[in-house]
This record gives sequence, C-alpha cells and structure tokens, in this order.
Amino acid sequence: MRETKTGIDSSMSRRAFLASAAAGTAGIAAAGILAGCSSGSGANGAKEDNDRDGRAEEGDAKKTDAVAAPDVFTDGIYLTKAVSMHGPINVKTVIADGKIAEVAVLNNRESYVIGEAAVKAMPQRIVESQFVDVDCVTGATLTSMAIRNAVREAIGNAGGDARDFEGYVAPELQKSDVSKECDVAIMGAGMAGLMAAWQLAEDGKNVIVFEKMPYVGGCLPITSTAWNAQETIIQKAWGPEQIFEGWNTMQAQLDQYLNGRIEPDSPYYNPDMPFIKPMFEAVRDATDKMINIGVGFCPISDWPAPQLAPGAFSIGGKFCLDIITNYLTYQLGVNIITEAPVTKLVMDGDAVRGLVAEGADGTTYNVSSKAVLLASGGYAYNKDLMKQYQPDDLKFTIMAPPWATGEGMLMGQDVGAALVAMDQGVTSHYSGAVSNAEISYIHYVCPGVVVNGNGSRFVSESLEYKQALRQFKEQDSTDFYWVFDEISRQGMVPSGNSYRLDYTFLLETGDATEAANYHDLAEKLNLPELVASLDAVNECVANGTEDEFGNVKLRTMLVDGPMYAIKVTPTPYIAQGGLMIDPACHVQREDGSPIKGLYAAGDVTGSVENRDGAMYRIGLTQAIGYGLIAGRTMGAEV
Ligand SMILES: Cc1cc2nc3c(=O)[nH]c(=O)nc-3n(C[C@H](O)[C@H](O)[C@H](O)COP(=O)(O)OP(=O)(O)OC[C@H]3O[C@@H](n4cnc5c(N)ncnc54)[C@H](O)[C@@H]3O)c2cc1C
Repeated sequence: MRETKTGIDSSMSRRAFLASAAAGTAGIAAAGILAGCSSGSGANGAKEDNDRDGRAEEGDAKKTDAVAAPDVFTDGIYLTKAVSMHGPINVKTVIADGKIAEVAVLNNRESYVIGEAAVKAMPQRIVESQFVDVDCVTGATLTSMAIRNAVREAIGNAGGDARDFEGYVAPELQKSDVSKECDVAIMGAGMAGLMAAWQLAEDGKNVIVFEKMPYVGGCLPITSTAWNAQETIIQKAWGPEQIFEGWNTMQAQLDQYLNGRIEPDSPYYNPDMPFIKPMFEAVRDATDKMINIGVGFCPISDWPAPQLAPGAFSIGGKFCLDIITNYLTYQLGVNIITEAPVTKLVMDGDAVRGLVAEGADGTTYNVSSKAVLLASGGYAYNKDLMKQYQPDDLKFTIMAPPWATGEGMLMGQDVGAALVAMDQGVTSHYSGAVSNAEISYIHYVCPGVVVNGNGSRFVSESLEYKQALRQFKEQDSTDFYWVFDEISRQGMVPSGNSYRLDYTFLLETGDATEAANYHDLAEKLNLPELVASLDAVNECVANGTEDEFGNVKLRTMLVDGPMYAIKVTPTPYIAQGGLMIDPACHVQREDGSPIKGLYAAGDVTGSVENRDGAMYRIGLTQAIGYGLIAGRTMGAEV
C-alpha cells in the first residue's frame, strides 16, 4: 500500500478512476476521487467506486466534492518550470475541484513544429485524461516529459500527490480497414515528399501523402532552413552583383564543385555532374514556386556560402511549411495523412502498385496506386542499420531525427532496389558534448583550437566540419575540446559576430569550463598536452607562420584570460548512402534497371552530391530539388 499525505491508498483510488474512465466518465469520476483522496472521508468515495466496479456517476462526484479538504489539495493557479529540450519551459496548471482543469505552456524555446506539437498536444491530453503520464508526442519526447514534470510539480504545490495522476492506459484502438485509390502514393511528408506532391497535383494527378509523425516537414524545422538557390526570380530582380556580394550565379555554383568540391579520388567522381546540375536547376524552380505562393525569403549573404532562407531560420521554416501545406491541401487538394506510417509496398508482378499504412487511430489504409514515391528520409537513427553500415560512428551521439529509421530504404530493398555509397560514411555536426546543442559554426565566430582528450591538436579548425569528422573518428578518445580565450568569447554574442549567431548559452549548459589562464585550464580538465599545443599555436600566430594543421581562422594568439574550453563532440546525423536512383528518381536494381512504379527522392537516396563525387553538404537543396524532379518524372510517366 502506498503512503499518501492523507494515509489513503491512492493506488486503489486511481484504479477506481481507471475503471470509471473506461466507462466514459473520466472527468466526472476524477473530480470525485481526487477530492476524496484529499481527506479521510474521501476514502469512501474510492471504495464505492471499487464496489461498483468503476461505474461512477455524477452524483458521486458531487458527494465527494462536498467533503474535499481544500487546505490539502488547494484549488488555484500554479506556475511551475521544467527543463526541456531547449531550456526551461514555464507551465501554468489550474487545479479546480480536485481536477487538473487547465494546463498551458506559457513560454518556451522549443523547436517550431516539432516541440510545438508537444506544447499544443500535451496540455490537452493531460486535461482530457486527468493523467499526467499520458503518451508523449512522437519525436518531441523531451518537451512532452518536461510538460509532464511541470504539471507533477504543480500538483505537489497544490498539496496533492502526483502519483494519484499516474497510470494512464491508452484506450483500445477501434480497428478499421480503408481502401484508397490514387495516381501516386507518397511515403513521407518531408520537403522531398511535399515538393513531389506539389508538382504532381499541378500536373493533375491524384496524390496521397502518408506521414508517420504527427507533423509535416521532416527535417526542415530542425535545420537552419537555408538552402542554395541560384537565379531565382528574387535574384534576377535584384541582380546578384549590385546587392549581394558573393551570391552565386548558377555557373559559379557549379564551378565550385568543379574546382575541388567533387573529389577526383572519389569512386563516384564525375565532372559532368549528372546529379548535381539538375538539382540546382530544380531547386531554383522549386524556390520560385514558393515565392509565387507567398513564401518570403531573405538572403543570408554574409554567410560563407550565401544561401536563401525563408524568413529567419527556423521561424522561417515554420511559416514556409504552413504556407506550403495550406496551399497543397486547400488549393491543390493533396491529401496528407499524418500519424500513418507506411508499413508495406504492394506489388503487382514486378511493379509497385500501392502501399499499406497504419494510422495511429487504428485505420489500416490499403492504397492502390499507379506509382509510389519513397521520400521517407535517412536511416542514421536506426542503430541496427548503423551497426551494419557505419559502426565507427556509433561511438558518437547520433543526432539524426527519430523518424530517420530507414524504413523506405528497407522497403525498397525488399522489392529489389540496390543500395549505393553505403561505405561513404555519415556526415556530422559539432555539438556541445553536455547539452548536445549543435554548434557547427562556432569556428566562424569564436576562433579557437580543437584538442583531443590528451590536449593535443589533430585537425584543422578551418576545415568544413563535415570533412573534419574523418579526423575525429581516427582519434582514440571521444572527448574533444574547443579552446578559446576572452577575446574570442566576445564573438559568441549575436552582436559580436556578423553571422548573428548566439553561442553564449554554452557557458550555462555545463559544456564550458573556465579558468584564469591556459595552464589552469589544462590542469582543471586534465589535458597534459594542452599547454604545449597552445604554445605552438601562439608561436605561429606571433611569427605569422603556417600552423601545423592549417587553422586559417585564428589570427590572434590565445592568451587573454579567462580561458575557456567547451567540450565538443561530433554528432553524426545524415548518411551519405541510400537507395540507388538515376537522376530522374527511378529506383534502380543493382544492374541499373528501374523498378516499375517505384521512385525515390531526398535523404532516402543518400546524398546525390556524393553520387557525383562530392561530399554531402546541402540536404535541403537536394530534398527540395529532387522532390520536384521526382514529381516531374512521375507526372510525365504515371
Ligand atoms: C539536425 C539536422 C540539421 C540539418 N541542417 C541542415 C541545413 O542547415 N541545411 C541543409 O541543407 N540541410 C540540413 N540538414 C539536412 C536536411 O534537413 C535533409 O537532408 C532534408 O530535409 C531531407 O528531406 P527529406 O524530405 O528527404 O527527408 P526528411 O526531412 O527526413 O523527411 C522524411 C519524412 O518521412 C517520414 N517517414 C519516415 N518513415 C516513414 C514511414 N514509414 N511512413 C510515412 N512517413 C515516414 C518522416 O517522418 C519525415 O517526415 C539537416 C539535417 C538534420 C538532421
């Protein structure tokens, strides 16, 4: 028997509540039972419920309300705080008549779209069920758990016992089967799936998009939402030279690939760039489509690689998504079904002719279609696949999104598709090792050096982080530090750097260690080689000579105390290999022949840059460009 403030067996009362909830009287019964919990006489209420096998009635609630002891479980508005994915969230919980009457997240820094889904859904789930441990929102577990914790604390502050609100059992699903017909069924509503759906609908095709998460957009909301698009109508209107220095023409962009980005020693080296060229042409057209329906873009032209971003970073991504999904749904009639993972492809002879998807509400969708597009993203979140293809990366924290489990790739393989470039590794960001916050651009704003767990340097800090990963992987240690001084620290604030980046949070998350000087820092972190490493760097800077690893960003010596070290880690997030396609998005067998009715675009195909011999860089550009290409191909063939 569990002890509570009132000495009542609250687990019994919750059992009674559960039974009454199942009988469809959850809210009413909850009021009675919880009020009952708060005073000795309430025990009768619980017992009566048990006696009646949980069939509570409104009268019972009123009866027990009358004996509630408000000084123990006090009605009121409770403000609590919990640590979430992106810092603290503030939650308001209203307790009334012994019930959780309202929950609202007042302010938070959670991600748009994904974190936001939990911010919207969790309060409603808790209030409707009167349970705190309701199911988390898929993909937003940390935000969901933070909201649950804040409500638990509020219940405690109200004099209640949060355990009385635990024990949620999801209602049994009503199973049903639905048959649907369409021209094209799309697996995944990331940017690749959405762009394909857009093009197909414009071509007069009937399209259904199945998305396994409760929200659309795939990775877009968790990226910087910037992509490369040359010669769009915006750029043509303004003229690149006059307005945005360095904003490339299409040819200049392609020349960058020819002048080193495609690597001659890559097994896929192809200077004709059959994959990269159509990507840039298509992303220009796709961006123009967005501009024409009202997506606003701003050039982030002072970035090293000038890019177009819809609005400002993730907020822009949210607006961009809202505009696109509204347009697809209401103007073009595209049917997007969320929380409905595709589980199977349907074959007719050697052709793919549909799919099966399982809705979270118990509906099984049996879809018959002329073609299927796999646009379900990558596989880096799938530990088994990572073990099989990229075991070396598993020593780091994988930062792939939770939906990137490779289902589309596996389904393609099941019907005969070949995989390509599976040995080409996984691309990685840098992140704070404690907070896991991505800090890939720290070397632009906060010049420093990176050392391993011994304090030794091993890589050029100026290398693009994606290339640097190779050297990180070769190190024995998994501990790495970004070391910098006070002058560099001043670049971490948005006003201190031209990229408007803010990395100051790292000083509060436990990622950073501070010391008066670098001797102290070395001692504090037990980095025996750090002093020698920094002495060598400083000597090069002082003499104006090349440093051993080629850190071209570091122009001043690292000497001004305090000194700082941020514990960093590579966080692999996107695999370069995937389903083999041709540049028109037909999924291919090992011999290059296309599988009838099967197309693929976006991360499910790995990196198309890699297909021409370049290292993966611009996944959004690929998803948007190749989504459009897939739509065009299917529009013409289906
Ligand atoms: C953390 C992070 C940061 C990034 N930053 C950048 C950046 O700044 N710039 C850039 O260019 N690129 C960036 N990328 C890469 C880029 O976001 C992706 O390459 C691109 O968005 C992939 O789009 P996609 O549509 O192919 O796949 P996704 O966006 O992954 O979408 C796939 C969709 O398919 C759904 N799905 C999966 N399985 C099923 C199933 N069984 N049934 C139905 N639906 C399913 C998923 O839920 C998801 O919504 C980043 C990626 C990550 C992870």
